[in-house]
Amino acid sequence: MPRAFITGITGQDGRHLAEFLHGKGYEVFGMITGQNNPKATMLREELPFIEFVPGDLADLPSLVKALTVAQPDEVYNLGAISFVAMSFNQAELTANITGLGVLRMLEAIRMVGGNEDNAIRFYQASSSEMFGKVRETPQTELTPFHPRSPYGCAKVFGHDITVNYRESYGLYACSGILFNHEGPRRGLEFVTRKVTNAAARIKLGLQEHVVLGNIDSKRDWGFAGDYVKAMWLMLQQDQPADYVISTGVMHTIEDLIRLAFAEVGIEDWQSHVRQDQRFFRPAEVDLLIGDATKAKTQLGWEPEVTFADLVSMMVANDLEIEAKKAGLTIPS
Ligand code: GDP
Repeated sequence: MPRAFITGITGQDGRHLAEFLHGKGYEVFGMITGQNNPKATMLREELPFIEFVPGDLADLPSLVKALTVAQPDEVYNLGAISFVAMSFNQAELTANITGLGVLRMLEAIRMVGGNEDNAIRFYQASSSEMFGKVRETPQTELTPFHPRSPYGCAKVFGHDITVNYRESYGLYACSGILFNHEGPRRGLEFVTRKVTNAAARIKLGLQEHVVLGNIDSKRDWGFAGDYVKAMWLMLQQDQPADYVISTGVMHTIEDLIRLAFAEVGIEDWQSHVRQDQRFFRPAEVDLLIGDATKAKTQLGWEPEVTFADLVSMMVANDLEIEAKKAGLTIPS
């Protein structure tokens, strides 16, 4: 039975990846950070097959210990301070976990069994946020980085150190440059889920409007369930490499809002949306759109869920959750 070790197991991608790998017959180990982590309790019920191992990306000895216990064939580093807006307020913490955490994990892999004979394969969750103020459109694996947030800067370090350890020590280390990927498990702080949840609550009469920041920015949004397959595929190749994972289709936040509200039968979305400075960022990433040709040709990877289907799936999920919480039936 192959063994996988996942950091960020309680997050959206960690849960999708754990499910996917379990379906492929993997023994799945998830690193849990913190004492009495409330998300671990939730996860124990949702995905009981995961074996929890304590560890922290800020603590190298804990990573060595965790890998010694799990003895993984594959390590997926999804753990990070992952919210761009928060990274402006906690920049040093973001640099430490999202950036230096990658270096610590690579060192732990070298110590526990990352040499060429007994190679632990490593996946680093890189991000389209590294492209930031984009130098070309669409963005590929060769597009220069210009990050616009402490999160983006930390991800650039994580990406570069992954490439460096591959080139320096012959590690099988891959960096997946994933564009925004969403789904029902997305945290409510991200714009997609914030909007689909608000549309559902407004439809149910539980709220009147949603307060947002900049609705002109454009993103290439895919479904997280499709994207975790690409992570796994990267670790099954003869040679490690870096890949852009994206849909190649771009939408504005306004498109997202219009679609989400249309899903619940509300056409005049404008009367339910307000904007407030507190949701604007000190520096913005205006547009992201990826070219995943390399992943398509070399990995045989294709996204399956369209943007419209994604929004529809998320609104349906939020309607169900919010109606259940409030003891309401979903109006037709
Ligand atoms: P990101 O691409 O990783 O930053 O993902 P987010 O979902 O957090 O943000 C996507 C875009 O939505 C960014 O351009 C934000 O500035 C914009 N946005 C506008 N209003 C909001 C809001 O209320 N919350 C969030 N999270 N983003 C917002």
